[in-house]
Amino acid sequence: MTVGIVGAGITGLALSEFCRERGVDTVAFEASSEPGGVIRSTRVDGRVLEHGPQRTRLTDGLETLIDACGLRSDLRVADADLPLYVYADGRLRQVPLSMGAFMRTDLLSATGKLRMLAEPLTEGARDDETAADYFTRKFGDEAYHNMIAPLFGGIYGSDPAEMPGEYALRTVRRMERSGSLVRAALRRRLQGKEREAPISFADGMAQLPRALYERNADRVHLETPVEGIATQGAGYRLDTAAGDRVVDEVVVTARADVTAGLLDTVDPESARALRQLYYNPLAYVHLASEADPAGFGYQVRHDESLRTLGVTWNASLFDRDGVYTCFLGGMKRPGLVDRPDDELGRVAREEFETVMGASAEVLNVTRHPRGMPAYDGSWTAMESVDPPEGITLATNYTGRMGVPARVREAERLAGRFAESETATAAVAGA
Ligand SMILES: Cc1cc2nc3c(=O)[nH]c(=O)nc-3n(C[C@H](O)[C@H](O)[C@H](O)COP(=O)(O)OP(=O)(O)OC[C@H]3O[C@@H](n4cnc5c(N)ncnc54)[C@H](O)[C@@H]3O)c2cc1C
Repeated sequence: MTVGIVGAGITGLALSEFCRERGVDTVAFEASSEPGGVIRSTRVDGRVLEHGPQRTRLTDGLETLIDACGLRSDLRVADADLPLYVYADGRLRQVPLSMGAFMRTDLLSATGKLRMLAEPLTEGARDDETAADYFTRKFGDEAYHNMIAPLFGGIYGSDPAEMPGEYALRTVRRMERSGSLVRAALRRRLQGKEREAPISFADGMAQLPRALYERNADRVHLETPVEGIATQGAGYRLDTAAGDRVVDEVVVTARADVTAGLLDTVDPESARALRQLYYNPLAYVHLASEADPAGFGYQVRHDESLRTLGVTWNASLFDRDGVYTCFLGGMKRPGLVDRPDDELGRVAREEFETVMGASAEVLNVTRHPRGMPAYDGSWTAMESVDPPEGITLATNYTGRMGVPARVREAERLAGRFAESETATAAVAGA
């Protein structure tokens, strides 16, 4: 069996690696000249800047890849207990991540805290509510407004009021099966899952995909976009400018709009639906500052006058030489992402200086015109996405978004292909 993979982001690369380990033949095509997809790190004047994910978590799947690539000595692990903040009513307030911090935080009033503790008495998720309705019903207005909206919405650059719960709350619904989110969160903490530490690498997040590419360079073709997918016999043909390749299974890891173009011939209905999915545009402004706070960074409460969505404190997390990454745009201000670099830089710098009380200089501006899957109303189109047998869509709009989840899905798929190969061999030998 040969598996054809479209894209060499972390999903395509991890899949190449896990398949190789299991003796499954793969060929991956990547449009760009660099592996890694949205994971991109550069150095500017010696400083590491992250243009995609700022960090991820050290899960078992990632550890397997890190060891396979010999990256242990380059691994940078941040302190998981560093504080996280929300900017609300003109200052930074600590998000409570433990019972002690919950008692102390000034992000919630005494009444707001009591209301939050009533969560186990509230009903589970309903199909017809938005993420905002759900969280407000579970934890009360104040906790939603001050904490959950900035943090949950911040993951996607979305407004939870625009996110149908059916699509946006899949993980939360799984946690809820135990009857209470608070209880499920406490259990996770006791089981040590919260200890999956925040990580990066000496040269930034992109070091992992680069190393995975080097190990699999014989089966990953850079600068070779797939231009179309067609059926051929019992399998599929991947068309590229460098020639066609016939494969038994196809895994597409590209963005929804790109995937739509590739599926036009083999599955026009899924293609039509995929074109409807909306991505939130984002701009990143990297700043250098001598502000020296300890923590993950902050998200801005939605009704504050700032245009910044949030800031990651790379300097504190991974000792990144005064680097801070500011996020702008998202569902709230999509048009901001189209403004000139100097305007974005000025907005990010001035607002950072207001919040942090320290001066900053702009290092770089990066844009993601189609950045984050929005999980908004356009996601109902996913109901009509049902690719034919032998084509699997595996990326952040079909499954969970974080790098650990991408690696988990790649490992699961590799296991499935290895099993099916063993079953085919057994039938042939019988
Ligand atoms: C802005 C942003 C910030 C994020 N922050 C975090 C974070 O802090 N922590 C975390 O854990 N996760 C984060 N995530 C999520 C995570 O980084 C992504 O979900 C994950 O990296 C996606 O990997 P992927 O391989 O599935 O897709 P992609 O990285 O999108 O890779 C798809 C690849 O397909 C290629 N391609 C496109 N068209 C074609 C074609 N026709 N032929 C061949 N190749 C093609 C693309 O060039 C690309 O390399 C973030 C995501 C984004 C977008």
